[in-house]
Amino acid sequence: MNTERSHELFSRAQTLMPGGVNSPVRAFKSVGGEPFFVQRADGPCLFDVDGNRYIDYVGSWGPMIVGHNHPKVLEAVIDTARNGLSFGTPNPLEVTMAETIARLIPSCEMTRMVNSGTEATLSAIRLARGATGRSRIVKFEGCYHGHGDSFLVKAGSGALTFGVPTSPGVPKALADLTLTLAYNDFDGATKLFDECGSDIAGLIVEPVVGNANCLPPRDGYLRHLRDLCTQHGALLIFDEVMTGFRVALGGAQARYGVTADLVTFGKVIGGGMPVGAYGGRRELMQQIAPSGPIYQAGTLSGNPVAMAAGLAMLELIQVPGFHESLEAKTNALCDGLETAAREAGVPFTTQRVGGMFGMFFSAEKVDTYAQALACNTAAFNRFFHAMLDRGVYLAPSAFEAGFMSSAHDDAVIAATIEAARGAFVEAKS
Ligand code: PLP
Repeated sequence: MNTERSHELFSRAQTLMPGGVNSPVRAFKSVGGEPFFVQRADGPCLFDVDGNRYIDYVGSWGPMIVGHNHPKVLEAVIDTARNGLSFGTPNPLEVTMAETIARLIPSCEMTRMVNSGTEATLSAIRLARGATGRSRIVKFEGCYHGHGDSFLVKAGSGALTFGVPTSPGVPKALADLTLTLAYNDFDGATKLFDECGSDIAGLIVEPVVGNANCLPPRDGYLRHLRDLCTQHGALLIFDEVMTGFRVALGGAQARYGVTADLVTFGKVIGGGMPVGAYGGRRELMQQIAPSGPIYQAGTLSGNPVAMAAGLAMLELIQVPGFHESLEAKTNALCDGLETAAREAGVPFTTQRVGGMFGMFFSAEKVDTYAQALACNTAAFNRFFHAMLDRGVYLAPSAFEAGFMSSAHDDAVIAATIEAARGAFVEAKS
C-alpha cells in the first residue's frame, strides 16, 4: 500500500501541531505507525490522499450512522449554507431540533445545544452542582466524558491509552471532587453512596461504555445506579455521546428502560458537523441562563448548518426498522469475526449493543474495565495493522468501540470478515 503523501503530510504536521494531530487518538500512538490522511469519504468507506480505500468502522467516532456523505445530509447542508453560515440570533432549525429531541428522547423535556460532547458534559455537571448545591461528582474508571478538568480522572479513550490517570494541569483540589467507581460493580456503587451520598451532586456514566472498548451494563446495573441517585438526592447523568440514537432510536434510556435526570449528546446530533447538546427535565433545565442563574453560553451554539445536517440525519434514522437493521449488521460482523478468530486459533470475543461493538483479544467474555485492560493489546495492535493493510480501518486503539452504519451492506461486511481471516493469522505471531 502506497502511503507516501500521508507520510509527507504527517511529517509536516508534526512540526506544526502537537503530535501532528488535533485530537490525540488520531496519532496512532497506541497501535504504532502513522495515521493516514483522508481526502474524502463516501458510504462505508474512507479514501486517503494516496488513493487507498478503507472500509471504515470508526465513522468519525460515531456520528456517521447513515454512512459518509449521505446525499440527504449533504443536500440539507448545502441548502442551508446558501442562506448564511451563522447568525448569532435564534434560528428556526434550533426549535425543530429541540422538538425532535423532546419527541425521541425520554426525559429530554428541554434541551440546550452546544458545540461538542465536552461542552455538553461540562455544562451538565455544572447544572448538577448548581441544582443540588453539592460539589462532588461520580464517574467510572475507563469512561471518557471529554477533556473537562473534572473528567480527566481515571479517564478512558485517549487518556487511557496514554496511561495518565489524571492529566497534569488538573488542579488536585478539583480532581479530589471527582470520585471514581468500577463499572458494573453493584456493591462498590452502594458503598460509595452510603459513605458520601449526601455530598454527591451527580453521577455521570456512559450507559454502554464505549471508551474502554465496548462494555454493556450487566442486568439491572443502570437501574441500580438510578435507585442510588434517587435515594441520595443526586442527579443521574447519562452521557449518550456514543450511545445516543445508536443503541436505540431513544438511546440507552429507551433500550434499558431507565430514565436519567440529565442526558448529554455529542457529534451524533450533528450528522458530522461539530455539535453537542444536553437536556433533561424542565424544572432542571430551567435553572440554566437566561431562565435561571446557572450560566452557560455559546456563540455558535445551534448553528443553522449543523442543525440542518443533524435534522436530516435524524429523519433518516426514524425510518421504521432502521435500528433493527443496524443491529443485524453489527451481529453479522461480530459473529463473522468470532468465527474467523476461532478458525485461526486466536482467543477472541466481542460485545455488541445496537450499532456499536467491541473486539477483545480474550478467551472470556469481557464486561468490566479490569477485564478490558487485561486483554492482549499487542495482538490487537497486530490485528489492527493487518486489517489496515487489507483496507479495513478499525479504531486505532484497543480501548475504543467500533461503529456500524446503515451504509455497510452485506458485501462490505463479508469483505471485512474475509480480511479478518488473514489478519487473525498475522495477529497470532
Ligand atoms: N463523552 C463521550 C462518551 C465521548 O465518547 C466523547 C468523545 O469521544 C465525549 C464525551 C467528548 O466529546 P467531544 O470529543 O465532542 O468533546
